[in-house]
Amino acid sequence: MITMERMGTNNIQAKLVLLGDMGTGKTSLALRFVKGQYFDCQESTIGAAFFSQILSLNDAIVKFDIWDTAGQERYHSLAPMYYRGAAAAIVVYDISNADSFTKAKKWVEELKRQGNTYLIMALVGNKVDLEKDRKVQIEAGTQYAEENGLFFTETSAKSAQNVNELFYEVAKRLVKARPSQQTGILLHNDARDHYRRQFCCSI
Ligand code: GDP
Ligand code: MG
Repeated sequence: MITMERMGTNNIQAKLVLLGDMGTGKTSLALRFVKGQYFDCQESTIGAAFFSQILSLNDAIVKFDIWDTAGQERYHSLAPMYYRGAAAAIVVYDISNADSFTKAKKWVEELKRQGNTYLIMALVGNKVDLEKDRKVQIEAGTQYAEENGLFFTETSAKSAQNVNELFYEVAKRLVKARPSQQTGILLHNDARDHYRRQFCCSI
């Protein structure tokens, strides 16, 4: 339920982009977060897909407009359309695929070259349920993220491990950042502009 205080607090609409190699689980993470669904045979994304979800924090409501990109090289030239003007980017690799980690680092470098100082970036090692096939050690992800000032976590869209926590952390960072200086963020302080669908995390 939306309380009076809630209505008086900041409502933020934030553009979020999912980047990373094809098959790393970007669509699966979005579907897990937005719909609580998971498919073993998730179809490849063509071009890009759009999802939206609302997260309710203590002091703000964040509406995510999520652009889920395809990841294939042939769609690379389209990616700037999705990450330009984004408030947050989640770069995904597959912990059982070393190449996908190399590709993730390239995405991070590309994003950094855009020079959007206020972009909230997260690096995510997905498919942590495949521990037995792990090729990228957690330390490698942690270290790269630390060196580059990114939030880092390992997730599983399959088991749902850390998926809500990931988006919740990004939302918290968006609220903490100075939204007036960020691109990809719209502020709604109008009480009429509250959202009907809510998503609550109890972290
Ligand atoms: P995308 O190309 O990055 O969007 O990746 P998809 O979401 O389409 O996932 C690619 C394949 O990996 C699909 O067969 C998914 O079912 C599978 N997959 C996605 N996330 C996970 C995960 O967390 N664990 C496992 N074991 N498989 C996953
Ligand atoms: Mg996809």
